[in-house]
Amino acid sequence: MNKTSILVVEDDPTVRNLITITLKAHDYKYLTADSGENAIMESVSHNPDIILLDLGLPDLDGIEVIKKIRSWCNVPIIIVSARSEDADKIEALDAGADDYLTKPFSVEELLARLRVIERRLTYMQGVVASNSTFHNGNLTIDYVAGCAYLGDMELHLTPIEYKLLCELSRNIGKVLTHTFLTNRIWGRSWENDVASLRVYMATLRKKLEPEGCEYQYIQTHIGIGYRMLKV
Ligand code: CA
Repeated sequence: MNKTSILVVEDDPTVRNLITITLKAHDYKYLTADSGENAIMESVSHNPDIILLDLGLPDLDGIEVIKKIRSWCNVPIIIVSARSEDADKIEALDAGADDYLTKPFSVEELLARLRVIERRLTYMQGVVASNSTFHNGNLTIDYVAGCAYLGDMELHLTPIEYKLLCELSRNIGKVLTHTFLTNRIWGRSWENDVASLRVYMATLRKKLEPEGCEYQYIQTHIGIGYRMLKV
């Protein structure tokens, strides 16, 4: 397999060096950019597999960089930022980022996040070949028939639970914000909808992860949203 190529967008040379040394030690290819404009230029000319993006850049705000990159491609973007407020993470995720890491971060955590994205990329390559059925652990979704199974047992889901499951599975590995999910389910995002979302997600999880279940499929990001894990 080819080495995964990573574009590191960071204006602080100390952090940039820490990241690139880590990537080199773990056999990744990398490119660097120290500004938003350079990040956009590098991603156009080198088409990296993953982008690590700092939000506080000297020229453009990182959110603007996400929006520009998203206007032409779906490359996974992991935010690496000192902004630790939920509102900042949500804004970045809503703009199209895939995941986030708050500074200071551990190198192990950075590597773990990269592996999540790599598994998703490998998985998505497989999905392109057969995009009517989804497999993850012992979960199967037949999108055409509109049914989901745990092993051989059909899951009895309400229409909203099924819709949520489809959104999560089609975006496996990606953190989906409350706003994204409520918009997809109800076409709007009111405060009440977020409360309802929590209820539907809780009932879905009970069915998907029954007592004694060996897998955790859904990860909750408190105050932010949910993600389906590749198990
Ligand atoms: Ca910075």
